[in-house]
Amino acid sequence: MEIYEVVIIGAGPAGISAALQLKRYGIDTALLERSDVGGLLRNANLVENYPAFPQGISGPELVQRLVEHLQYADVKVTRTEVRAVSYQAGIFQISTTTGDFQASVLVIATGTKPKEFTEILVPEDLRQQVHYEVYPLISVSGKQIAIVGAGDAAFDYALNLSRQNQVVILNRGNQISCLPLLWQRAAASPNITYHPNTRLVQIEELPACRISLECTSPDGSELIEVDYLIGAFGREPQLDFIPPSWPEIATELEKQGMLYWIGDVRNGLYRQTAIAAGDGILAAMKIFQYLKETSE
Ligand SMILES: Cc1cc2nc3c(=O)[nH]c(=O)nc-3n(C[C@H](O)[C@H](O)[C@H](O)COP(=O)(O)OP(=O)(O)OC[C@H]3O[C@@H](n4cnc5c(N)ncnc54)[C@H](O)[C@@H]3O)c2cc1C
Repeated sequence: MEIYEVVIIGAGPAGISAALQLKRYGIDTALLERSDVGGLLRNANLVENYPAFPQGISGPELVQRLVEHLQYADVKVTRTEVRAVSYQAGIFQISTTTGDFQASVLVIATGTKPKEFTEILVPEDLRQQVHYEVYPLISVSGKQIAIVGAGDAAFDYALNLSRQNQVVILNRGNQISCLPLLWQRAAASPNITYHPNTRLVQIEELPACRISLECTSPDGSELIEVDYLIGAFGREPQLDFIPPSWPEIATELEKQGMLYWIGDVRNGLYRQTAIAAGDGILAAMKIFQYLKETSE
């Protein structure tokens, strides 16, 4: 059992910002992350709205700066996945794949998880070719990639992958819900094809790790062959480790200053890096006040 004043779950921009600020106060904190540091930001093609980068910065480059900042500030990230949390008598218990943690204050910065394909069956053998983020495919080149979706993520993924691949965007409707500038850039790319009113109805495995996508549109049915398929049609808060009885006590613990939700996990439609970072700093400042008052 490892015991800390504060445990933060998730090392995306929100959790990292909270950990850096808590370090400045000298508060004993564990920052737990199940994957690589940086969270969803690893997928961003070009971040143009994070202050201090006038020409924009790619998601992976911004993540690299966050990693350097953690190293410089000597903030350790523990690689582990949180499986369950519970609360009893002023202490949070955090069960992870590598052991248990205890803390007086818990910060949940777990971001979002993708909505997955439910209307079609994804064969088990195709798990390596079907993704919901662009990060695992960032170094592939010369491939054909289909992206299902019509929002910011779908077009951002397409722009990112189209530098080295041919990309087709499948939108089952005819409304585009991304930023106009993303649509304009995609429309100008010779490597991106956009198919409106096109519904994916079946996936089949082909030889040589290829995939056949059966799609329907008002013009009939067509087969599209690709190497990879990406689903980019929405995300929801990542709360898999929260027990069903949790919400009843959560509000009270939040009021008392013992529990914090920061970043995308709580921000609904307003999911942006600077907001997540601001949430993290604010939570850390409140935690400092809370720990000061309770120790007096
Ligand atoms: C394609 C794309 C482009 C984007 N472009 C921009 C942009 O231009 N500008 C901008 O401001 N924002 C952009 N964003 C949004 C930005 O990436 C997010 O707002 C930001 O990453 C949210 O940070 P977060 O820390 O709240 O959550 P996340 O970044 O999602 O981090 C959550 C972390 O928690 C970890 N975690 C989850 N569950 C557990 C668990 N049980 N145990 C341990 N760890 C766990 C995850 O592995 C993850 O690392 C973009 C996002 C995408 C997908």
